[in-house]
Amino acid sequence: MVEITRMETTSMTLFTNQKEVDRAIQAAVDQAEKCKGFRTHCVLCGCTPKPDQWSSQVENACMDCV
Ligand SMILES: [Zn+2]
Repeated sequence: MVEITRMETTSMTLFTNQKEVDRAIQAAVDQAEKCKGFRTHCVLCGCTPKPDQWSSQVENACMDCV
């Protein structure tokens, strides 16, 4: 936070770039969240688990497989 404030006062161009970087990071995080919420079927057997039937150990796999 201190770093961003310092750049803002010393160089407006740097500050703008920092804002772009922050926005790009946020977009990547949003995309990752979207993908996570979009899982519909087990990658191992292809079944469609209910929300409480997903494996807690292997991502995008059902409880039956792992
Ligand atoms: Zn499965």
